[in-house]
Amino acid sequence: MKHINKIEHLGIAVNDIEKANKIYEQLLGVAPYKQEAVESEAVVTSFFKVGDSKIELLASTNPEGPIAKFISKKGEGIHHIAFDVDDIQLELDRLEKEGFQLINKQPKAGADNKLIAFIHPKSTNGVLIELCQEKPVN
Ligand code: ZN
Repeated sequence: MKHINKIEHLGIAVNDIEKANKIYEQLLGVAPYKQEAVESEAVVTSFFKVGDSKIELLASTNPEGPIAKFISKKGEGIHHIAFDVDDIQLELDRLEKEGFQLINKQPKAGADNKLIAFIHPKSTNGVLIELCQEKPVN
């Protein structure tokens, strides 16, 4: 049974979204296809397509937000790896049974029309893992 489809995107924590947009636009040769604020996470995000995967830049909108805290501890850089799954709740239940430490036991609304949930880096060798599932179209 297939659990994880692919790396959906890499999340990169940045201080200044406009500066980072310019850098990644130069690097990748494409403009971001989407910019979106996610209030629940206190972030503004922008997305670049790279073949089948994406790069997500994340900047904090609040000095107490998770991205601001991450940058103050570790500096700018790779923040998470996101895996695409078909059924996020099924995967969360499976991973919890396998002993992984879930940050979110239930999926929540994320950027880019996704349901998302995070797995604690303590149980994944120091890497924050995001699971994401395309929101079903009604
Ligand atoms: Zn992400």
